[in-house]
Amino acid sequence: MTLNKFPLGSTIGIVGGGQLGKMIAQSAQRMGYKVAILDPDDTCPARYVAHHFVHAPYNDIDGLKQLSNHSDVITYEFENINAEALKVIAEENHVPQGYETVNILQNRLSEKEAIAQSGAVVVPYLRVECREDVDRAIREIGLPIVLKTVFGGYDGKGQLVVTDESHLDEAYKMAEDNVLVAEKRIELDREISITASRNLQGEVVYFPVQENVHRNQILFSTTVRKSHAYTEAAISEVEKILSKIHFVGTFTVEFFIDKAGKLYVNEIAPRPHNSGHYSIEACDYSQFDTHVLSVLGFTLPKSIRLHSEAVMYNLLGQDLDLMEHLFPEHPEWHVHVYGKATRKENRKMGHITLLLDDNTDTYYPIYEELMR
Ligand code: ADP
Ligand code: MG
Repeated sequence: MTLNKFPLGSTIGIVGGGQLGKMIAQSAQRMGYKVAILDPDDTCPARYVAHHFVHAPYNDIDGLKQLSNHSDVITYEFENINAEALKVIAEENHVPQGYETVNILQNRLSEKEAIAQSGAVVVPYLRVECREDVDRAIREIGLPIVLKTVFGGYDGKGQLVVTDESHLDEAYKMAEDNVLVAEKRIELDREISITASRNLQGEVVYFPVQENVHRNQILFSTTVRKSHAYTEAAISEVEKILSKIHFVGTFTVEFFIDKAGKLYVNEIAPRPHNSGHYSIEACDYSQFDTHVLSVLGFTLPKSIRLHSEAVMYNLLGQDLDLMEHLFPEHPEWHVHVYGKATRKENRKMGHITLLLDDNTDTYYPIYEELMR
């Protein structure tokens, strides 16, 4: 028998108060837990759903200590937290996710090495840190390649696609300023992802395979159907990764599928993920619910039930401008607005989930039309 170390009313500390922190907090509170948030922005989305708020940079040891003082268990909403700072906190507090996984995954090179060592398939890649490395990558991998900064990129930021010589100057400059990974640019047929949760005891539960469409390298939509041709193949890759990288909580593996149907692991997020948001309405447990259960060391559900096929659309600043006046007419849109203080182009402001039953399938093309 496992004893419940976290009686109702215990506090979960979350590093990061963006939309992911907010949605983790909302799940935790529904289950009877309190939440403490640390964020450098005192208008961040999670601030107004938290019992305690620590206003400090993510890597500030004093701030993290303050968060620990309020918390019985600590988790994070993003992987770019300084692993060293997390290590200091993990020595004296309960941080079930540890810091090693963040350390591996926040660096695209060590991430790819770990995935490749697990036996899962990644796109051919090379380390690049000077002009000569760019030339070598082009020679050995062949054009087109994508250059990505090893640290800190998201939503396609810190990436350059090199298709011909006209991009070389920019590529050389990027290589002189940063450590990069150069990888083969795949001609994509589709992109999918799979979200899973693992608790401290090692139980794992999978969400259904998610089909993702990106526009300008930012997630545009995620569609989930009752079955997917790649479910077995994707889970098999995740199982390999699980044998090599230690996960606790919710995580997502992103995949590419090329024109020949071959599956490659793209990257891993050791936290709830944008492509799992549909689970709030469409599944019996959301990715945030299973994250909370996992970090508390609770038993996970044996499987996740998909109540309805679904599609999720992100609402970027410009989408919200376009769509906001239509919300009152569309109760079937399941609107989420995160509550960020400023609306900006390409900033994720919220999302919409449509449940694709007979009734709403007709709204789906209408929405696609509006978003063009
Ligand atoms: P991040 O999500 O951290 O910004 P990704 O590596 O996932 O970075 O890249 C964002 C998107 O850019 C991918 O989802 C994909 O659409 C496109 N992309 C990235 N790398 C490649 C590649 N090697 N081949 C084809 N498309 C790519
Ligand atoms: Mg990505």
